[in-house]
Parts: sequence; C-alpha cells; structure tokens
Amino acid sequence: MYDYLIVGAGLFGAVFAREAKEKGKKVLVIDKRPHIAGNVYTEKVEGINVHQYGAHIFHTNNKTVWEYVNRFAEFNRFTNSPVANYHGELYSLPFNMYTFNKMWGVVTPDEATAKIEEQRAEIQGEPQNLEEQAISLVGRDIYEKLIKGYTEKQWGRDCKELPAFIIKRLPVRLTFDNNYFNALYQGIPTGGYTKMVENMLEGIEVRLGVDYLENKAELDALADKVLYTGAIDAYFGYRLGNLEYRSVRFENELLDIPNFQGNAAVNYTDRETPWTRIIEHKWFEFGKDEDGNDLPKTVISREYSSEWKPGDEPYYPVNDARNTELYAAYRALADREEKVIFGGRLGEYKYYDMDAVIASALDCAANALLS
Ligand code: UDP
Repeated sequence: MYDYLIVGAGLFGAVFAREAKEKGKKVLVIDKRPHIAGNVYTEKVEGINVHQYGAHIFHTNNKTVWEYVNRFAEFNRFTNSPVANYHGELYSLPFNMYTFNKMWGVVTPDEATAKIEEQRAEIQGEPQNLEEQAISLVGRDIYEKLIKGYTEKQWGRDCKELPAFIIKRLPVRLTFDNNYFNALYQGIPTGGYTKMVENMLEGIEVRLGVDYLENKAELDALADKVLYTGAIDAYFGYRLGNLEYRSVRFENELLDIPNFQGNAAVNYTDRETPWTRIIEHKWFEFGKDEDGNDLPKTVISREYSSEWKPGDEPYYPVNDARNTELYAAYRALADREEKVIFGGRLGEYKYYDMDAVIASALDCAANALLS
C-alpha cells in the first residue's frame, strides 16, 4: 500500500513526490505518456536538447524556488530575448527602446513616452480586454504589428474577447534592456529538463504508459491518497461540460546548417504566417555540446496553435468568463473528493509558469504532509 498515488510526472507531480519521499512517505508516480517530465520534457537530437512540448525558459523571483531547482540541476546563463518578425521586419522584444526606435525612429525615452502617450489616448478608463490593455500599454502601432496577429493566432480568439491580464505578462521598458522576463533568476538546466525531473524522482517508483482515468478504481485502491495533476474536467468525465484549452502542434526539422535564425525564439507576429513562432533549440545552450564544441547541425520547431480537442495535449487554459465559471463549478466538485488533491496547470486550470507550479507544489506538499 502506498501513502500517495501521484498522477502525472510533470513538475507538480515530481516536486510533490520528492517532498513526500523526503518525509518518509511511500509514493507511486504514474503517467500516461511514455516519459517523465510532462510538458517540460526534452529529448536529445544530434547533441541538442529539444524542448518537445515547446520552449521552457526557467525564470523566477522566488529565491526558495530557485534554490530548490538548483538542487536538481545546474542552470546556465540563458536570457530570453525573442525577436519579432512582422512580414520580414524585425523588432526587439519585450517592448523596449530598441523596439520603439525601430517602430517610430524615436531615440530618447522622452520621445518614446510622448509617442505612447499620444497613441494610448484612444483608451479611456480601465482597459476592459486585451486589445484595450495592449493599446493603453504601448499604443496602436505596436498593438497592430507585434501583438494583434500573434495573440489571435495563439488564442484563436479576437483580442477584444481575451482577458487583459495575458498581456501584462510582457514588460514595457524605456531602457535598452531586451530581457523578456522581469526575473532575478533565469536559465536553462544544463543537460535538459528531463534530467532535472529524473533527479527529482530519484529513488521513487514511476510507472509510465499508465492511464489513471481508464483504471481509476484499481489504481485508487493502491494508495491512501491521490494527487491528481491531469485535467480537472476529464477527472469528472466532463459531466458539467468541457473546459476549453489551447493546444500546440510542432513541426520539427533537423537542418544540416549550423545557424537558421541566430536566436532561440523568433515570433511571427503577422496574421498571415500560419505558425506563431520558430524555436531553434541549440541557442538555449549557446549552440554548444556538453564539452563546449560548436554543434554542426540545428533543430528548429515551427509552432502552430489550435483549439484543443479530445486526443490532443492540453497546454493553455482559456481564462475567459465562461471557462472561469465552469472551472469554479468543477472546483466545488473537487473539494468534495476527500481522498484526492488537485494540482498544477491542468488540475487547477491556471496559466502557471514553471516557478509558480513549483511554489504551488511545495505549498501543497507542506499542507498535505502536515496532516
Ligand atoms: N505576445 C504578443 N506578441 C509577442 C509575444 C507575446 O502579443 O510577440 C502576447 C500574447 O498575447 C501572448 C502573451 O503575450 O498570449 C504571452 O506570450 P508568451 O510568449 O509569454 O507566452 P508563453 O506561450 O511563452 O507562455
């Protein structure tokens, strides 16, 4: 008999499992996929750690979380600074003095401020949706060229129907600083995320290719408690209706050239290009192998967003009014499941970054393991 059955070997599950194990609990981790690490899974191709479920760049302001992950991996000095490609015009991201200079020819922060002020005047009062929020942050020109197309491709919804908070993830700076994140700590685990999660799960029994919901009664009988990190609506057999998710499809290509785009991430912000971004994975580790040698080839992934349908991997919860309300109803059902704890991006239907998932898993474990 196990103390905990942990459903999902992603970050939430792995951190919870590690904490439980260290408290002397007997844990079993299962995952329906044939590998650990959930969507942070990386796989080596021609010496390059390929982020198989999309780019993951670790960043945090939380010192506890930073020290925690550093127990399981060494982090390199990678700093995310994506480039936006709008019909072949290149802009620096996030929105900073390089972006404003290219967009308007302005040179000083005062000139940039004046331009933004002039353009944001069309929005009066508190922004009610993503479009209004974006225009009020950076003005209409940047909204039209760098935000609208990208956002509508990523979310499959009009910017007027999306919540304002999504765009608040992006910094706006009147300096020449193109670090995408406002984070004290940032980097990529050397050797890939899979290795880091493997280290978290050291000494813990893991069974892969096991579908919890298909074998629920039998698996539940193995443990006192269950930690479930899958989709909350799937757990309840979609009985209140489907929550919506966005999914992502990747077209990976191995190219026999050393450098395709000169940067890890290039966002295609126009509406016409069908993909949202291209990731060139080698640049997460500066184009070098473990011994510091230049890698001769490169792997790129074109990323296409789509509405989730059964059989796809869910990636992003769609936090609009309908889904938020439906999630609350599922949450009420979840609170009545005494044996089961729900956690993570899918279990809590929340657009968590990796550091927030880890913080949440540590909290959850501390609470659960006290009782
Ligand atoms: N975004 C944008 N243009 C860009 C990059 C991001 O408008 O070139 C907006 C868009 O609304 C997106 C949000 O910022 O949904 C968050 O993007 P990010 O790339 O940070 O999300 P991730 O997919 O990496 O979690």
